[in-house]
Amino acid sequence: MLISGIKKTTLLDYPGKVSCIIFTAGCNLRCQYCHNSEFVLPEKIKLIKDFIPEEIFFNFLKTKIWLLDGVVICWWEPTLQKDLEAFCQKIKDMWFLVKLDTNWQNPDILKKLLEKNLLDYIAMDIKWDYDNLENLIWKYDKQKYFESIKLIKNSDIDGEFRTTLIKNYHSLDDFETVVKQITGAKKYFLQNYKWGNTLQEDFDGKSFLSWELIDFKNIALQYVEKCTIRF
Ligand code: SF4
Repeated sequence: MLISGIKKTTLLDYPGKVSCIIFTAGCNLRCQYCHNSEFVLPEKIKLIKDFIPEEIFFNFLKTKIWLLDGVVICWWEPTLQKDLEAFCQKIKDMWFLVKLDTNWQNPDILKKLLEKNLLDYIAMDIKWDYDNLENLIWKYDKQKYFESIKLIKNSDIDGEFRTTLIKNYHSLDDFETVVKQITGAKKYFLQNYKWGNTLQEDFDGKSFLSWELIDFKNIALQYVEKCTIRF
């Protein structure tokens, strides 16, 4: 397991739980607005010298049995890690909950993890309308996207979908099509794009004004059970 970083405690990333986060390395998408190209592009990942040995992570976890409820495995795309299943099993053997953040490109792996009861919560990115993504993401598989949505919606475990809203690329007019893709979802989070270094250097997306997000939320609520704006 490539562990590029550990956040020792968070109250925000696993709803209702105290957790730690581990960050992996590598991603199979290329979102132009990605703020983390150093952990996404293979030529940049090669430059990372200090991956954290698994042993250090598990030794840390042993000291947090009474403090943490769970472990969030996230960024950049954990399902690319070949030993993810064994890694989740080790965490579960220590009686911690496991939350997985995924970009949806590997539904086969998701399915396997769900069948083996290795996940307790899944968060999946809804990038936008998957028939019109070319201006935001290079290289993606639409079929896999719909397979992952179905898996999450049909699973018994808790989960959420979430979208980062980007002015200049996303509009209210198109949003209904986006949220229809996850009709019936229990939880949907909207978050505002934040300016920063991007994978596409001249990316010209901007943040929405806070009150503009409420219009998106109102549309979403026609299709999902609960929609929350993350500020
Ligand atoms: S934004 Fe997320 S899914 Fe997109 S390239 Fe970056 S890490 Fe991958």
